Amino acid sequence: MTTRQSGNEAGARRWSAALMNNYGTPAVTLERGAGSHVWDADGRRYLDLFGGIAVNVLGHAHPAIVDAVTRQVGTLGHTSNFFATGPAVELAETLLRLTGFGDQGRVLLCNSGTEAVEAAFKIARRTGRPNIIATRNSFHGRTMGALALTGQASKRTPFEPLPAGVSHVPFGDVEAIRAAVDDQTAAVVLEPVQGEAGVVLPPEGYLRAVREITAEHGALLVIDEVQTGVGRTGSWFAFQREGITPDVLTIAKQLGGGLPIGACIAVGPSAQLLTPGLHGTTFGGNPVCCAAALAVLRTVAEEGLLDNVDRVGKVLTAGIESLEHPLLAGVRGSGLLIGVLLNRPVAPQVAEAARAAGYLVNPTQPDVLRLAPPLILTSDEAEGFVRDLPAVLDAATPADEKESGD
Ligand code: PMP
Repeated sequence: MTTRQSGNEAGARRWSAALMNNYGTPAVTLERGAGSHVWDADGRRYLDLFGGIAVNVLGHAHPAIVDAVTRQVGTLGHTSNFFATGPAVELAETLLRLTGFGDQGRVLLCNSGTEAVEAAFKIARRTGRPNIIATRNSFHGRTMGALALTGQASKRTPFEPLPAGVSHVPFGDVEAIRAAVDDQTAAVVLEPVQGEAGVVLPPEGYLRAVREITAEHGALLVIDEVQTGVGRTGSWFAFQREGITPDVLTIAKQLGGGLPIGACIAVGPSAQLLTPGLHGTTFGGNPVCCAAALAVLRTVAEEGLLDNVDRVGKVLTAGIESLEHPLLAGVRGSGLLIGVLLNRPVAPQVAEAARAAGYLVNPTQPDVLRLAPPLILTSDEAEGFVRDLPAVLDAATPADEKESGD
């Protein structure tokens, strides 16, 4: 029999310079997870509202994923996409059913969000038209094509020159799209909700209007649902809330519930543009990742998690909205993608105070905390966070702003 030692006794490794530092030195080393909780190397427990950056739909160590992955890795772990496998075929067919694209769609499986977007970029290039319209403050990934679409100077500038032909218009502004799109436009690329920008929602009807404009000019509409897809906003895909069909859809993050998998799904004529030999990736369609994705999709459906997203999302947004605190400016979101807006650029300090109180949250922007918890989060867990938030905000309030008390 083995006994679980605490991280310290087991000699758990903490931050090491052997790891390239992407986001700043992590303050905590996580060791294990179960349900919506994770534990650090010292055995401290956190409610995971960070969700692996909107990935862990079924929380941690969900038996459906554990079983599916264990079975598949012991059966056929990898083949490359020179070969079809049962899990890849079933996943593609399931995605075409859930998106409603049916036999009009073709699924290209890859390993991440940025790769799904790169494939969409290549499809846009294959139209033969030179220009792509994306939106300001958008985030589409960090590889060079996806970065060219990303509308944030801080991420782009250090890597210029980027692939040419992309211009950025204000997000949520139909007239800006109308003015920018013409018969030289290959594609308009959009997030239904700008996640990394701080959970920014467009006005209702935006996607519908952009769909009409792109169709008028024969330009593709590429919807990037890497962050909003697979139930995050309470429907399988956010585009379905506006009753439109995109030409290209990109998904990743929550699709694998923690295993690295993404997909670029092309619909109708755009599905014919990447002909054999033009694109590929060694790990795309990996059967273990596909098995995990199938377990995710099945469990979201079987456990009624889309309804849970609506229900628990409302508990969080309504609860936070009802709070009054000098640091709190408001809350916005869709389903379980929620931005907590702060009056001051203290999101990193609030995230740190939250961690000390047992919650992991993502300081997405200097003045926005993003909550992207597992879709299995319960109302009780959400209410607990709402109850503790004022004390967390107190703890993060700069000393010179605290009342002296006399
Ligand atoms: N598109 C969107 C909308 C995203 O939010 C992200 C990741 N935050 C990406 C693309 C890139 O995904 P990945 O990090 O898996 O490359």
